[in-house]
Amino acid sequence: MKQFVVIGLGRFGSSVATTLAENGYDVLAIDKNADRVQALADQVTHAVEADATDEDALKTLGVRNFDVAVVSIGDDVSANILCTLILKELNVPYVIVKAPDKLHGKVLTKIGADRVVYPERDMGARIAHNLISSNVLDY
Ligand code: ATP
Repeated sequence: MKQFVVIGLGRFGSSVATTLAENGYDVLAIDKNADRVQALADQVTHAVEADATDEDALKTLGVRNFDVAVVSIGDDVSANILCTLILKELNVPYVIVKAPDKLHGKVLTKIGADRVVYPERDMGARIAHNLISSNVLDY
């Protein structure tokens, strides 16, 4: 069974973490904000307070043993980039990163992110496709 680490527990990260956990997956949830960690403590396998730009902290947490990492640390561009770089250097096979914009997304791809997502844009496109699909009357 795949093991997931979710870094950054805003709306996006916590939704990913709790949904995976509800479906029976092992989830390590990380945030530097103690309140955010506490809010998820009962819902995931492990919830830990740590700075995701601190390589030693990520090593100590055994992040290298996880199959998938989801990074969603908000608008802090340098933290997003640094964290992604560390995860790829630790050989995490699949790293998904939430990007605030296209340029930022390009940088993330260049440093090794396996997938970059733009939740608002992606969800907008999905809703539009739903609306124009043949099932339009079902919405
Ligand atoms: P949304 O809430 O819509 O998902 P977002 O990703 O911009 O948007 P924020 O509310 O900014 O969400 O959440 C980002 C989270 O990332 C915060 O909980 C913040 O504490 C955490 N974070 C930011 N920098 C670091 C870091 N270096 N290490 C760990 N966590 C971090």
